[in-house]
This record gives sequence, C-alpha cells and structure tokens, in this order.
Amino acid sequence: MKTFHAASSIALAALVAVGAAASLRAQQPNAAPPALELLPVQGNVYMLAGAGGNITLMTGKEGVLMVDTGLAASAARVTAEIRKLNSGPIRWVINTHVHPDHVGGNEAIAALPADPLQPLRIVAHENVLNRMTTPTAVAQGPDVVRGLPVDEYFTPIKDIHFNGEAIVLYHEAKAHTDGDSVVLFRGSDVVSTGDIFTPDGYPFIDLDNGGSVQGEIAALNHILDLTVPAKTQEGGTYVIPGHGRICDEADVVEFRDMVVIVRDRVRDAINKKMTLEQVKAARLTRDYDPQYVTPTSFVTTDRFVEALYKDLSQAAAAKPAAAPAKPGTGNRAPAPAGKK
Ligand SMILES: [Zn+2]
Repeated sequence: MKTFHAASSIALAALVAVGAAASLRAQQPNAAPPALELLPVQGNVYMLAGAGGNITLMTGKEGVLMVDTGLAASAARVTAEIRKLNSGPIRWVINTHVHPDHVGGNEAIAALPADPLQPLRIVAHENVLNRMTTPTAVAQGPDVVRGLPVDEYFTPIKDIHFNGEAIVLYHEAKAHTDGDSVVLFRGSDVVSTGDIFTPDGYPFIDLDNGGSVQGEIAALNHILDLTVPAKTQEGGTYVIPGHGRICDEADVVEFRDMVVIVRDRVRDAINKKMTLEQVKAARLTRDYDPQYVTPTSFVTTDRFVEALYKDLSQAAAAKPAAAPAKPGTGNRAPAPAGKK
C-alpha cells in the first residue's frame, strides 16, 4: 500500500505505542505481535494500545464506537478485546486520518455480521476518503473498497449522539495530514487526537499527504481549547494520543511548546539563508532529542527538521513580501502566553 506510506506508518505505530523493543520485533515478520492493552480512560471511554495506532473505544447500551481501527493484521485480536467490553453492535468507526496503522482494521470490522437495522457507519473527513480512493488505491482490489469511510464529512465540525453522549469531530486542516479529525467525547470529557499529538516522539508532519507545521500547531492549540485541567493541573480532560500513553492538558502544552520553539528556530535559520545541511549540522533540536528520539524512532531528528525546513521554505518562497508570522500562531487564534 505504497500510497499510504505503509512501512513508515507501521514503524511509527509500533515504536511509539509499545516501545523500541517492540518496534524491532514488528519489523521482523516472524516475531510475535505486541500484546494489546485495554485501559479505562474516563467515563465511557477506553484506550486499546498495541494494534498499531491507539484505538479509542466508547461503549454503552447502544453498542460500540471506535476511533481508528489499528493495523489490518491486528483486527481479529482487536475485535476480541472489544467483545470483552461490550457484546453489542459496533455502530461507528471514526478514522482520524489515512495512515494504515489507523484505518487498517476497517475492512475486518466492516465484514463482521451486523443487524441491517443497526448498520456500521464509517466516518472520516472527505480528504481521507479521497486519498483512499486514488486510482492506485482502488487498483489494489475490491477488498480495499470494503471498509472505506464512505460516511465522509466536509464541514469543519461534525457531531454524533451515541450512548447518551455528544461526540464532536473537528477537522484540523493541513496538520499531520490534510484529513485529520480530533474527536471530543463531551460527556466523558476525553479528546482523541490521532497522530497530531504523539507525546513520545516528534510529530510526523506528512507533507506528501497534505500536512503542514502551521496546521499542526493550530491543531495542537485547538486541542488545548478543548481540554480543561482539574484544579491540581493533573487530570481533568484526558487526551488519547495517536501513539503513546494516556495524557492530559499539561502534556499537550509541553508538546505544543516544543513544536513552536523548533519551528521558530528552523525559520530563523531559513531567514539567515542557511541550507538544509547547515541546519542539520547546527543541531537545533539537541535539547529535545533525548525526550523525543530513540535509536529506532521513525521520526528521527533529521526527518523532523527536514519536514520543517521544506515546509517553511516553501511558505517563505510563496509569500516573499509578507511580514514574518508571529511565533505561536497558526490557522487559528494565537496561543495565550504561559498556557494554551
Ligand atoms: Zn499517522
């Protein structure tokens, strides 16, 4: 599935979700797959880790809603874990974006027996469907077509009411990709972010799939708009990242600040006419590398810096007469100093 950058995303999924050792195993086809881990988050929401990207599960009397479906190879084990929680129908799948470690299980979920009166609906932003139905993707056969998010939306916001709770999808334009959705469970007070937020690794700004650093920062700021900390600054709204541990607002603030600071450093270097090789040699991320990079990271320092350099260089070339953008601003409102 070349279109979907399968190898790279699988590597990212395995690495960030279950650690470096598991990543090495995942790259060896005969190795045992990582164990799945089902964790209660808050209210009706659970996180299932180890199947590729994190899967968010919301359960109740009406059945199950999933945010992302993991890798295709994990689908049977994912279904078994869901059945431990809830024996009702899987009624909704929301895909946060196009990468195969997040949509790979769609086909298998769509193939499960279902009550025609309670059909499965697979939802994603229309850019996800567009990228999954390119001629290259469709040429891979009819199996690819089953499990497509044909319940696509193209507005900035889509809402769903399920299991007595309001669930709101926000399209985050040109962030990790051009089809990213952030999902807010308003009653349970949980936000599921997809790969916009990956607390253990640098963000993968997928320029080939329409991502951009300004959109990434805007999306992180929007996630911070949706989260409310408890009085102790720990807890409150919980955040399920695309890969990695369950987080809260403070974790997103730290990650957003890192992306903004590195973005500013790379932009300063571009303004000084430094080449990409000079920028890499200057090691502009060295204070963050110990926290966000391991020897097996998919998003290496060079990959992160290259994406920023390429994206920001193009932006500078496109707007030569424009004043430099203010730090911390994206497509949405600027971040208030100190917190969001
Ligand atoms: Zn991704």
